[in-house]
Amino acid sequence: MAKYIFVTGGVTSSLGKGIIAASLAKLLQARGLSVTIQKLDPYINVDPGTLNPYEHGECYVTEDGAETDLDLGHYERFLNTFTSQANNVTTGRIYQTVINKERNGDFLGKTVQVVPHITDEIKRRMLLLGKTGKFDIVITEIGGTVGDIESLPFIEAVRQLQWELPEENVMVIHLTLVPYLKAAKELKTKPTQHSVKMLSETGVHPDVLVCRTEEPLGNDIRRKIALFCNVKQEAVIEAMDAATIYEVPLLMLREKLDIICMKKLKITQFNEPNLDKWKVYLDKLKYPKSKVTIGLIGKYIELQDAYKSILESFIHAGAMNEVKVQVINVHSEFITDDNVVEKLDGLDGLLVAPGFGTRGIEGKIIAVKYARESGMPFFGICLGMQMAVIEFARNVLGLKTAHSTEMDAQTPDPVINMMEEQKKIKMMGGTMRLGAYPCQLLENSLAHKIYGTNTISERHRHRYEFNSDYLDQFEANGMKATGINPDSGLVEIIEIVDHPFFIGVQYHPELKSTVESPAPVFVGFVAAAKEFNEKSNNTKTSLLRDALI
Ligand code: GLN
Repeated sequence: MAKYIFVTGGVTSSLGKGIIAASLAKLLQARGLSVTIQKLDPYINVDPGTLNPYEHGECYVTEDGAETDLDLGHYERFLNTFTSQANNVTTGRIYQTVINKERNGDFLGKTVQVVPHITDEIKRRMLLLGKTGKFDIVITEIGGTVGDIESLPFIEAVRQLQWELPEENVMVIHLTLVPYLKAAKELKTKPTQHSVKMLSETGVHPDVLVCRTEEPLGNDIRRKIALFCNVKQEAVIEAMDAATIYEVPLLMLREKLDIICMKKLKITQFNEPNLDKWKVYLDKLKYPKSKVTIGLIGKYIELQDAYKSILESFIHAGAMNEVKVQVINVHSEFITDDNVVEKLDGLDGLLVAPGFGTRGIEGKIIAVKYARESGMPFFGICLGMQMAVIEFARNVLGLKTAHSTEMDAQTPDPVINMMEEQKKIKMMGGTMRLGAYPCQLLENSLAHKIYGTNTISERHRHRYEFNSDYLDQFEANGMKATGINPDSGLVEIIEIVDHPFFIGVQYHPELKSTVESPAPVFVGFVAAAKEFNEKSNNTKTSLLRDALI
């Protein structure tokens, strides 16, 4: 039978429950246990698919096409295993299931209530992955902060499970904040005491407290927290701010978080943790040999979380190339023909980001033109690829008003068009082309070189596609389709053949990049940026030398 670890959060949001859950999972996995992580979100949206990135950060997509919370991205990046539909459940989905059952007549004669009907459905979802027989441990992160009205049914479900499951099969970790007051030169435990008190009032008592702190906790503070919060002192875990999230598993190893959990769960068979690959990666990350600067052209740049997986993919690909990748955010809305050189000159590569809607589109197209003409490495993802197609149509094929029908439904040259199967869809939620699809790569193409294989599988999230009616015209002029979906014939990858590195992909390679297996396109792009940087430095040096002579 699987064992269940619940992670709750107190005091404030943004303490990093997802990273703590992923780090613990990594340690348990490194000890030979099979682990998965799921996230329960208390909001009423059925999934985050229709949420603006400003509201909730990036929408992460799983292999099986679920639109999920971005924490699932951390789970996959840390564990190097796939998550699925079952790994992210919202209040909306819980209610939807219960209400559908009610309409179906499944509760005939009964009043349907939060307790037991909603909490039963929550418990069913909490236990679901454990019942597949695939996992020794299921870690469940409860979104929100203890004390929020909307997370109450989830906490109540944890309370019930603490009684229903054998004691050694369930435990609760509570993540809190121990703030440092500069004026008093002291760490303060009161917020943690209050948070644990509030959790205890709901009938859930934590087994472990993970305390986020800027200063080391020290024995006195640990003892005090243990005493006031009624946990063992060894179960008070210090979680210091780390230079990178990828260091947190090692910090947790030092604090013996994994050992404490296995002790509580009475797991006696485990190995010494094998974190060799992880440590090699961390070393490369910490000691890069050089640096490249990439311009990320997007419209949600004020919010780091909006492009979370892209930024993490750059970290993975940077380590692989032993370079530090500095990502400069460039707001596409403010790029014009007049300032494009000033804004982009000096960068080593350009990534045009995914997105929806008209805002910032023309700036993206101007940026693509700059990369195409200057020979700067270019990488377009989803909308970024579509912009590269439009730019090429307008400025190389001479189709001056070419556009995507997403932005201009009446364009005479719809080089990007809505996919056939999308045309009849009216509902917005969960109806895009979502999840993993295969893609056949053309031999001798850049894509083939990057992936080193004939067929790949990547994840998607879009409604529009390259309009194949124009393909011959594009290919005759130097933009080639080098990746095609073998079943539908959809164009998945475009390249400009006489450019050092110009690639646009309809899919989202950032969603599959993990520490142990970085996304090949990112690795290739960073390598090209490195080369571009070295070349332009050489030119600068030789110009300098010429000037001196
Ligand atoms: N808006 C575009 C489409 O729906 C691109 C989507 C994206 O970048 N994820 O096809």
